[in-house]
Amino acid sequence: RPTHFGYETVTEAEKIERVAGVFTSVAESYDRMNDLMSFGWHRIWKDHFVASLNPGFSPLTSGPDPRAPQHILDIAGGTGDIGFRMLHTAHTLNGNPDVRVTISDINPAMLTVGKQRSTQLPASQQAALSFVEANAEDLTRTKPLSSTSTTATATDSHNTSSIPSNSIDLYTVAFGIRNFSNIPAALREAHRVLKPGGVFACLEFSKVDKHPLLNTLYKSWSFGAIPLIGQLVAGDRDSYQYLVESIERFPSQEAFRDMIVDAGFIVGGDGFEDLTGGVAAIHKGMKP
Ligand code: SAM
Repeated sequence: RPTHFGYETVTEAEKIERVAGVFTSVAESYDRMNDLMSFGWHRIWKDHFVASLNPGFSPLTSGPDPRAPQHILDIAGGTGDIGFRMLHTAHTLNGNPDVRVTISDINPAMLTVGKQRSTQLPASQQAALSFVEANAEDLTRTKPLSSTSTTATATDSHNTSSIPSNSIDLYTVAFGIRNFSNIPAALREAHRVLKPGGVFACLEFSKVDKHPLLNTLYKSWSFGAIPLIGQLVAGDRDSYQYLVESIERFPSQEAFRDMIVDAGFIVGGDGFEDLTGGVAAIHKGMKP
């Protein structure tokens, strides 16, 4: 089935391969580039995203005890920004050590950087953390991050296991879903692995259409400056050009909300929250 890669039409398999190439290529520079490209805003969005979910305390599926154990699955977790924040909020701020986090990504190079970064975390948080390689579109085939794997892709090994149905309290995906070749398949997998009452939460770049002036500034920054910064700082124009184009091609807030509903989730209100005028947006849904 044809899908897009930037403005080119390629097959799903080609897209998976090319996305793997992009993130293998940017893994080492990814965190530094994120700060440069977003003026540090990605940290504020991620802090807000995690605070809004209040891991370790929010009711989620834990019933009457707000500090009941939780299993959080951070999909496309890359170098760990969301997973680490989840652990800090749950263990340190909410005093709930029974929260564990699985950081999952299709790309072992990104995970390897994340695993290295995680050595800075307190020992109790490291013990509650695991890293697995998986394609978000098929969570029946995951494998633990191997200490030797640095090249994509994840799911070609025989040493795989499945994330069981109805096993996850909170599923998060930040700045990942627009890279997926088959977003409806990933949403179906999110629905499968979540417990009834479990929450799907997505942070992703979105549309600024409601604010024409901001939109003009944003477009010239992203199409003009970001590929150039990618070239100058990371020596990799093409990967950053891809990242900008993938944002452009991602559905609007409303269209993505409808996809979440189509996958079987219940959404509250509009189903999304705009951040910085819609440069990014948070979508949430609950599995009934
Ligand atoms: N969540 C992290 C963050 O917010 O910093 C990383 C985001 S990074 C922009 C996107 C991640 O999506 C990459 O690590 C990439 O390997 C991952 N990714 C792309 N396609 C994927 C797929 N089909 N399944 C799982 N992860 C995927």
